[in-house]
Amino acid sequence: PAEGQRDFVRQIIRDDLASGKHHAIRTRFPPEPNGYLHIGHAKAICLNFGIAAEFTGWCNLRLDDTNPGKEDPEFVEGIKDDVRWLGYDWHDLRHASDYFEVFYDAAVKLIRDGHAYVDDLNADEMREYRGTLTSPGRNSPHRERSVEANLDLFRRMREGEFADGAKTLRAKIDMTSGNINMRDPAIYRIRKIAHQNTGDAWPIYPMYDYAHCLSDALEGITHSLCTLEFEDHRPLYDWFVDKVDLVNHPELWQHLREGGFKTEPAKPRQIEFSRLNLSYCITSKRKLAQLVNEGLVDGWDDPRMNTLRGLRRRGFTPGGIRLLIERLGVSKQNSVIDYAIFENCVREDLDTSAPRRMAVLDPLKLVITNLPEDHEESLVFSNHPKDESFGTRNVPFSRELWIEREDFAEVPPKGFHRLKPEGEVRLRGVGIVKCEELIKDAAGNVIELRCTLDLESRQGMPGADRKVKGTIHWVSARHGVATEVRIYDRLFNVAAPDDESDGKSWIEHINPEAKRVVQAWLEPAAAVAAPEQRFQFERLGYFVADRIEHRADKPVFNRTVTLRDTWAK
Ligand code: ATP
Ligand code: MG
Ligand code: MG
Repeated sequence: PAEGQRDFVRQIIRDDLASGKHHAIRTRFPPEPNGYLHIGHAKAICLNFGIAAEFTGWCNLRLDDTNPGKEDPEFVEGIKDDVRWLGYDWHDLRHASDYFEVFYDAAVKLIRDGHAYVDDLNADEMREYRGTLTSPGRNSPHRERSVEANLDLFRRMREGEFADGAKTLRAKIDMTSGNINMRDPAIYRIRKIAHQNTGDAWPIYPMYDYAHCLSDALEGITHSLCTLEFEDHRPLYDWFVDKVDLVNHPELWQHLREGGFKTEPAKPRQIEFSRLNLSYCITSKRKLAQLVNEGLVDGWDDPRMNTLRGLRRRGFTPGGIRLLIERLGVSKQNSVIDYAIFENCVREDLDTSAPRRMAVLDPLKLVITNLPEDHEESLVFSNHPKDESFGTRNVPFSRELWIEREDFAEVPPKGFHRLKPEGEVRLRGVGIVKCEELIKDAAGNVIELRCTLDLESRQGMPGADRKVKGTIHWVSARHGVATEVRIYDRLFNVAAPDDESDGKSWIEHINPEAKRVVQAWLEPAAAVAAPEQRFQFERLGYFVADRIEHRADKPVFNRTVTLRDTWAK
């Protein structure tokens, strides 16, 4: 067994292997294809796929598609894509709907064994009969139907004879149980609605609590990892697994094998862990869908979204996301993680993996008056200050440059170490320049700085080591490539947008400044990037060439994250 992470889930697995309870570990990641995956799902993905890899087992990707109407094949493709992007691959790709026949036959078995009945109560009546946390429920008047009557009614439910909601197949457990989930929960309800995989074949659909555990058992899942809100459902999970007993009833699933599924049922164990909650984020597919549907963002992959596609387009790395999940560990403690921790993980990953380039986002012209008009040089810059394997590149240098407007101050505040009238600054990789003259427009705005370059301070010259306080970056005006850069910030301007105790809906906390578009200048070696290539633009942050819209002749970059945590609130 792997060393490394030591959390309670991995400890259970180590114990199960040591005791011989299991010889191989099998997990699954079971998203419902009713939206794209978000950062919360990354935790479940890393846990399930990670454990399978560490303990030389396997992990299935199972689309939990038992809820027709909300599910869409577009989301299935998106989910597959996102899991692969995070760096994982599945053993088998399954759909819960692959097992609809098994679920049906298993329900017939439950009826035969006296463990299920068809109820005629409608939804409201059923709720009323169910009781509350403090009062027991009551038996439905239809609870004591004969096995024959139940078999007949259930067959007719399947044949489409009854209207939606007219009948329900329920488990016969205990209407007085202290656990409401055990008060005769529904197994099948009638819904005459087309399904993305099975079309109109079924007018009845299995409930999540029934379909999920049987899917786990069918696939031979040993450890079924899920989030804490399912803790109270565990007795029901075990009840269905035990009563259906797929391991000892091959007649229920033999046909799957004949159809090509490598099915080897086992008795799974459900283990719950706490959800990942991040400040400044929404991790509910329903709300993320609302942002998209109401046009509050540009789509599921909008770089402001904390969907995996959004984070990807923003330039976040799979390595940074995996690092976050690893750092946070796995426990049963619910908490909200500070978004800054996430950004730091991404910075850490990008610091080692992103080559450096120069870009100017808010340009101010700087002219070096003591160089000839047609002066042109190619300077050699290293691509990474800490890693020589990144190699070097040529950066064109000429008499007219763009510098960052905020690197100059006509009236400098105290402690300002960049450029000011009569002041000196080092131009990165060039030498020291002195600001001799300001050119202003009619409105009095500075539009150009006229400077002299101390030729003795250039590389290889005796004055190259002369000390000057600031160093600023630049782009040669003649060679710079005009580029659209999108400056992204957090989508919400409060840490807990979901907290509605202030009387405000989460929608009202959207940060209107979360997207800003600027026209920037890039050195040529940045502009030729491939889509999705990531760089550190020196002193500015990490940026990515937009994976959809960037082209070498019309570059588009997104800011992933600043170099330091500058988010004051
Ligand atoms: P939503 O409420 O946004 O629809 P969900 O939990 O219903 O999310 P599923 O598609 O059913 O979404 O989730 C697939 C798996 O991912 C489940 O096992 C679920 O427990 C897990 N998961 C979902 N959200 C989180 C989260 N925030 N942290 C950890 N695991 C999560
Ligand atoms: Mg859901
Ligand atoms: Mg949910």
